[in-house]
Amino acid sequence: MVDIKANLENVRSEMKDGVLLVAVTKTHTPAEINTAIDCGVTDIGENKVQEILDKYDSVKPVRWHMIGHLQTNKVKYIIDKVVLIHSVDSLKLAKEINKRAGQHEKLMDILIQVNIADEESKWGVSKDEVKGLIDDVTENCPNVRIKGLMTVVPYADDPEEIRGYFTQVKEMYDGYAGDEREMVDFEYLSMGMTHDYVTAMEEGSNLIRVGTGIFGTRVY
Ligand SMILES: *Cc1c(COP(=O)(O)O)cnc(C)c1O
Repeated sequence: MVDIKANLENVRSEMKDGVLLVAVTKTHTPAEINTAIDCGVTDIGENKVQEILDKYDSVKPVRWHMIGHLQTNKVKYIIDKVVLIHSVDSLKLAKEINKRAGQHEKLMDILIQVNIADEESKWGVSKDEVKGLIDDVTENCPNVRIKGLMTVVPYADDPEEIRGYFTQVKEMYDGYAGDEREMVDFEYLSMGMTHDYVTAMEEGSNLIRVGTGIFGTRVY
């Protein structure tokens, strides 16, 4: 049996002050998720629209985050359900979010996903494309507020191999700290998963996305 409460205590004991924990609940049941909520989890992350829809009504009140790749044609299903979309990596997607947010008369908070190691297998824009995308979104999407950056770095057994990626994204994030545009309001630097969140926090992450470390190994 996975002891969700003990796992959460363990993760929290390693967390720095001011860091938000998003418990990643993909593949896990509403019962497991509700256990985590009973243990104080306020924010959960899913990477598939379908899983959000399947579980939404069975999960206690909590803040939902969309952390996975989002297809344009599925934005409409989650626009009224999530507080933050971490995975925006194209103007096309941002425009659709803008349109659907407008229909719901809401402002949608997003993060720009950066593929910092330029991995073929990962979503996100390259480092060089971040500025252009932020400029385009602010010019074209009045219902979209850019709250920061998100990244998934390559897997490494030795954290020192990937520390530099976190440092680079933190530097980019800091570059937007004093941005005067109303819809560029940086607050979240979403980086760090079960195997690398300690390193990510050391390099300035203030939002970690932890699944396995809370719920145990996923069975797909
Ligand atoms: C699954 C997932 C996580 C959590 O991964 P763990 O290694 O289980 O902590 C974090 N971020 C994203 C984008 C994910 O898809």
